[in-house]
Formats: sequence, C-alpha cells, structure tokens
Amino acid sequence: MKAFRRFTVRVPLPTELADLTTVAHNLRWVWHAPTQDLFAAIDPELWDATGDPLRLLADVEPERFTELAGDPTFRDRLAGIRDDLDRYLTEPRWFGDTSSDTGAAELAAHGIAYFSMEFGISEVLPIYSGGLGILAGDHLKAASDLGLPLIGVGLFYGSGYFHQSLSHDGWQVERYPVNDPTSLPLAPLSDGGDPVMITIAMPGGRVLSARVWVATVGRIPLLLLDSDVPANDEELRSITDRLYGGDQDHRIKQEILLGVGGVRAVREYVRITGRPEPTVFHMNEGHAGFLGVERIREMTSRPGTDALDFDTAEAVVRASNVFTTHTPVPAGIDRFPRDMVRYYLDADGDGNSRLLPGLSVATVLDLGDEGDPGVFNMAHMGFRLGQRSNGVSELHGAVSREMFADLWPGFDADEVPIGAVTNGVHGPTWVARTWLDLAGTDEDSQPDAFSAMPATEIWRVRSTLRAGLVDEVRRRAHDSGRDRGFTDAELGWTADIFDPDALTIGFARRAATYKRLTLMLRDPDRMRRILTDPERPVQLVIAGKAHPADDGGKSLIQQVVRFTEDPELRDRIVFLPDYDISMARDIYAGCDVWLNNPVRPMEACGTSGMKSALNGGLNLSILDGWWDEMADGENGWAIPSAEGIPDDHRRDDLEAEALYSLLEETVIPLFYARSGDGVPERWVEMVRHTLTRLGPRVQASRMVRDYTTALYVPAADQFASICADDFAPARDLADYRHVLERSWPAVQIAGIDEAGSNNALGSHPPAGESSGSDSPQRVSLTLTAHVALGELTPDRVCVQALLGRVTADGEITDPVVAEMTPTDETDPSGRTLFRSTVVPARSGRHGYTARVLPRHSQLSDDAELGLVRYPVGTAEDAGPGRGSGS
Ligand SMILES: *Cc1c(COP(=O)(O)O)cnc(C)c1O
Repeated sequence: MKAFRRFTVRVPLPTELADLTTVAHNLRWVWHAPTQDLFAAIDPELWDATGDPLRLLADVEPERFTELAGDPTFRDRLAGIRDDLDRYLTEPRWFGDTSSDTGAAELAAHGIAYFSMEFGISEVLPIYSGGLGILAGDHLKAASDLGLPLIGVGLFYGSGYFHQSLSHDGWQVERYPVNDPTSLPLAPLSDGGDPVMITIAMPGGRVLSARVWVATVGRIPLLLLDSDVPANDEELRSITDRLYGGDQDHRIKQEILLGVGGVRAVREYVRITGRPEPTVFHMNEGHAGFLGVERIREMTSRPGTDALDFDTAEAVVRASNVFTTHTPVPAGIDRFPRDMVRYYLDADGDGNSRLLPGLSVATVLDLGDEGDPGVFNMAHMGFRLGQRSNGVSELHGAVSREMFADLWPGFDADEVPIGAVTNGVHGPTWVARTWLDLAGTDEDSQPDAFSAMPATEIWRVRSTLRAGLVDEVRRRAHDSGRDRGFTDAELGWTADIFDPDALTIGFARRAATYKRLTLMLRDPDRMRRILTDPERPVQLVIAGKAHPADDGGKSLIQQVVRFTEDPELRDRIVFLPDYDISMARDIYAGCDVWLNNPVRPMEACGTSGMKSALNGGLNLSILDGWWDEMADGENGWAIPSAEGIPDDHRRDDLEAEALYSLLEETVIPLFYARSGDGVPERWVEMVRHTLTRLGPRVQASRMVRDYTTALYVPAADQFASICADDFAPARDLADYRHVLERSWPAVQIAGIDEAGSNNALGSHPPAGESSGSDSPQRVSLTLTAHVALGELTPDRVCVQALLGRVTADGEITDPVVAEMTPTDETDPSGRTLFRSTVVPARSGRHGYTARVLPRHSQLSDDAELGLVRYPVGTAEDAGPGRGSGS
C-alpha cells in the first residue's frame, strides 16, 4: 500500500554528538569534502547509498551513535568540523571587509534578495529541474563563499522534478518523488514558536496562505514558500505541488506566490531575525517579475503621508531591481494571457487590484505589454521594472539587445541597455575530489598547482576519473536495463561495456530541439565507424530528460536509445536515464571531451561544458553561449556553425559533417598520439591549459563578483541616492517623466549647421593618416544643432553629435559620440543652439548626425527611457517611446 503522508522519526542524538545535527542542516557539506568524510565515517555503506546526511542520521542504528559518542577520535573530528563551519560562517571573506575601500558600503549594509523559480543546490533538496536551477544554486554557494549579504527566495515543491526511466521500447517514463519537508534540511520560519504564514489575496475573496521553509546554504538563507497548508483549499494547496508541471493558470499562481509572497517572506524573515532589509532585488528570469509590483505596492501603502505615489515608487523600485534574462528562444519567454493576469490582479472588476491593494490594474497590465493586446510578457515587465539587466554570456547579451530592442525604440540594438554577465559554475561543487586533493581547494592557487603538475600526473588523474565513470556507466546501464524489464541474465553484457582507456565523449543536456541530441546520428554509419574503430576506439555517454509534455523530445531520446541497443555498438555508446546532479558530477569528471552542438545562437550560455572544463575536459562545441567568448584554440575545438543557412536540414548536414571531420582528423588522432610512457603529451597540455587558464574564468565566484561590481553595488548605491531627502530624487525623476510625456512630442532637431577647418567638407580625406607622420592634416568640424525643447530646459536634455564612417546606404557605423553644449543663442524660431566640435578619428567617407536624449541624474543609461530624437526627416526620428507609456 502507498503511504498517505510521510514523516520522519528521529531518535535524539547523544548530547556528545549534537553538533552533527547542526553540521547536517547547513548545506555547506555539499561542497566541503571533510564534512562528507565525517558522515561517511558514521556508516560508509549508508553514506554511499544515500549521500544524504539527514537520511543517514535517521537510519543509523542508535547503538552506532552510542559507540561514536564514546569515541574520542570521532568526537574530536566532529568538533573540528563544527569549528571549521563556525569559522566559515563568521570570518571576513572577499566581500566581508567593508572598512576597506570596496565602495560597497550600501550593499554591505543592506544586501540582496535573489529570486528564482528553482534552486539546484544538491540532489538531497530536489527543487530544481536543470540548468537555470543549478545556476541559481551555484550563485548562492558562491555568494556564501564570497561573504555576500544575500537572501535566496524560491518555492518549495511537494514533489521534485521527475525521475526519468525508460520503458522496454526506450520511451521516457516519469516518476515524481515526494518531498517530505520534515526529512529535508529545512527549518520552518517561525516567530516565537508559531510558524509564519504569508497571505495573498486571491480572486473570489479567497486567501492564499503559505508557510516558509528556510534552507541554510553556507552563509546564505534560502526562503522557500509552500502552499501545502491546511488553511488553503485543495486548489490553492496544489500551487506548489510540482515544478513546471501544470498549465498556465497553475504557473501564474506559482509566480504570484514567488514574486508577491516572496517579498512578504523576506520582510517577515528580516523582522524575525533582525537582519537588515535588502535593498537590491534580483529577478533570476521573468518568473520572479511580480516582486517588482509588490515592492511598488509596499511603498504606495506606507502609512499616511509616508506613502509614495505610484510613479515615485516605481522610480525607487526600478533603481534597485536587477533583471536577468536567460533565453534567446522567443518561445521560452514567459507569457500569460492578459485576461488571466487581470483576473488575478483584480477580483472586483472595479479597476483596483485586490492582489496589490492601491495599484491600478491597468497600470500593472501595461508593465507586461508586448504590443499584442492579448498578452502579458513577464520578461518585458522584468525589463521595465529593472533599471539594470543582463543576458548570461556576451553573445546572449548581444542577442537579447536585438530581441528586446522594441522596448527601446529609436536606439540601435547595440545601444539597448542590456548588459552581460557570463554564467559560471561552483568549483568546490563540481571539481572532482581527486583534483582538489592534489591542487588544493583555494581557487586562487589552483592554477599554479596545475601549472606545476607533471604531465604524467595530470594524465593519471584523467585516467582515474575516466575509469570511475566507466564503473558508473556499467552500474547504471545494468540498473536501467532492470528498470526496463530485462533480467540479470540478459544484462550480463553491461558488466564489461566501455573501456577505461578509450577516448570518452559526453553529451548530457535537456532534450530541447535546439540542443540537437541526435545531430551525432545524422550519418549513423559514419558514427558507427568512429565508435568501433579497433585501433582508436571512441565511446559516448549520453543523458538528458525531455519535458514531460514534449513528445518530440521523447522520440529523440528513443532514437538514441535504439541506436545504443545495437549489439555491435552497446560496448561504446550508452544512454543513461535520470540525468541529475549526482550523475552529472561523474560524467563531467570522467569525460575527455564535452560535446555541445546547439543551433547557434540559441544556447544562452550553457554551463555543463564549464563543469567539464573544471575537470580537465576539452570542449568540442559550436561557438555558442559561453564557448563563443572563451574558446581560445587551446582549450578545445570549435565546430564550425552553418548559421545563416536557411534550410535547417542542410544546416544540420553541414554541421554534422564538420563534427565528424573534427573528430576523425583532429580530436581522435591527438588523443591517441602517445609518447613512450603512454601519455598523450599534446592532449595533456591542452588539459593543463584548460585547467589553468579557462578554469578561473568559468568559476561561479567570478560570476558573482561580476554581478556584485557591475549590478549589485550600483543598484544599492542608487537605491540610497534615490531615497535620500525623503525620496526627493525619486519624486523629481517621476515629475521629470511627466514633463517628458507632455513635452517630448515638441522636442525636435530642426537642423544642423556645420563649419569645418582644413576643407573638412571638401573631398580631402580627413584625419592624419595619409602622411603617416604626425603632421597635422587633422580635420575638425563644428556642428551647431537647432533644438526645439518644448517645456524642457537645456540642462534637462542631453544633445549629442555622432560622427563616423558611413555605409553606402548612409548608415553611420561605430560613431564617435560627443556631447553638444547648450549656448545661450537661439535661432529666429526660438530654438536653442547646441554646439560641439568633432574630429573624425579615421579617414574615409564620414557622416554625422545629432540626437536629443533625456537627462536626469537618476537615469543610468542614455537609452533607459527609450526616448530619442534625431533630426527631422531622418528615419530614426521615432515617436514617443515607452518612457511616455505608464
Ligand atoms: C549543469 C547542468 C545542467 C545545465 O547544463 P547546460 O549546459 O546548460 O545544458 C543541467 N542539468 C544538470 C544536472 C547540470 O548539472
């Protein structure tokens, strides 16, 4: 029979061992090998089987604890681990020393709330599905290591993302594990013994209640909202039943709980613990977008005269919200029917929101406008309510600037204010123990250790890790066969599949179409020849889940599984079901080559190749995501992309051909080119180069430092400055936006006068490069723009001259931008004259223009409000942008 509910009975530990509970509840053990060793010492077999301290503590026989309580060596060891944890939690770290001139005093005093729909910290806390969640988990871990004052906010799911197995005929089967919070490393957030309840108004006068679980990730608290409480009816209870499992209605309720409920949970947590209120709010993807409107609601509903109006509150919230977009696939953007959002905002139909009392439904709906009147776009809301935003690799930043350019009309894509912070992965989690034992755990000194390591040693470690993976492959292939209904007798062959010395290639990722799981099978005979070469064998480990609703993805998996079943091939190629953190760690560590062949530029970043690189794996990848910026010719290979070829089939053919050729002509020969002692010298040098040079760049610590300096610190400072003097700057910005709304239509550049020196306007080539000496043929050009300003004063706009080479159709490329200074002259029509002198930097055909932009001290980017005026009659003289919208 199946249990109706589960719970865990814990025998109290002997007092001598009480610290075990503390150590088990802080998830820092996930990336701290000595703590893992301590648990292993309690019961090695149980530890091997579970890898879960709390299950271990629940399952070990009491006699064993009595024995350990009387064992002074164990007690000393436990005390040492406990001391180490205390030190880790309190000692100053990278961010810790605020007295130094980090310029981060505001951030240090308040901190960050980081919201994400999923967090992948460890397989023992299954509240993630894949890349996005694991990235968020790595973000928390690195923030902890760096001493960043950050609070994580997410949802607790009643069942984890599904476990994958295969049916007899290779079709994906899903099984949802039950998450019992009492057996997980979670503590209820409570106030004087009473569990805290977050409440949110729902349509029909109902109230959604949620409790809050706190997971402790090193120094970082992670608040997880859970709607499975008796106060809710069945429908509301089921909001957090599973991750990405339901329909859109289910999803929007989850996102309301995350965004609105998450802010309320942060407030409760802060009130109870006395921690400072975070001022920076980071939306990790659009799912968390409702946090912005909840923050606005808070400020508009402050008591009495402290209440801010909507526009002032919006200015404050924008200043301190950070938004990260994660997908260049338009279908991956989170969108809801506008009517659905309206339904949840407003139960009464009177235009005022019940969900967010005090806010107008229409105003909130406008924040998610994407031009289609039926659609509410969470990413657009994220950009509108986040003054700072980014994509997750340089290439993805550029793609996002194109993709979202409509939000900043009148600006070229490269001026769109979306930056890039390239993802990273948490080394202490993902680097194999063998490497850490040799190179140490200090990230800063690891590159030196790898530099100094003899080639034979590097090769020995690589071979050990490969052999470990081969053992795993055999074990998992056998278990998978059992799941599929084969008998042990039929599965005898799994005992000696794979070769610990053969070139091992890994490919593990979601079966999303753009990732092209089956590209390698484009020419099955050629793949077969590569795998079965008797002299230079290659073996391939494949893993990945398809979304439960994605039959296309499942049939790709089936295609791969069928290929692997060929008796001639099953020694060399395997599909391992249930790709998860624990399997991932083995594959990343053991593979020599990490293969990735997405359709460029659909991979926002990709992180699995980074984890492989941290273990000395060489990437073999399309130049997409992170690899586009970090491939250097020595750390792996770039598969040439046939981007631009419109026929997808032909493109796949070309890229598959390129992949096969690279393998046959370059990768395989290099791996098997051995010196006298059997070491592939060139290969090992590439491994060394990867470990020393690429390693530091793919660390999550680098990523979190980048977020801190580029986004968190400026956002915290801006929050402080916009709130100063009782919000005077915020009010001023709100007023300014009203003035812009009224006056922008009247703002105009009626014309530009030019006056040159050295015949700049003649046919002489400008700039002094003709003679090659420093003899000045330097040309300067004085431009005077006639600018109608409407109600605006000259100090409230920025007028720029732009000068650069022009293309045949008159486009200026890479312009030099010079600010034009207002004069006190006007032209006969009363327009203000702005002037500047510009000097072309190069020779060639040039062109110039001028433009007017808003100017306010609380704007962080010229393009921010999406308002710009070019001279009358030019194509870019766009109408009012979104800045005049709300
Ligand atoms: C790193 C990781 C991912 C994400 O990898 P991508 O390169 O983004 O596909 C997914 N699942 C697991 C288990 C991971 O460890």
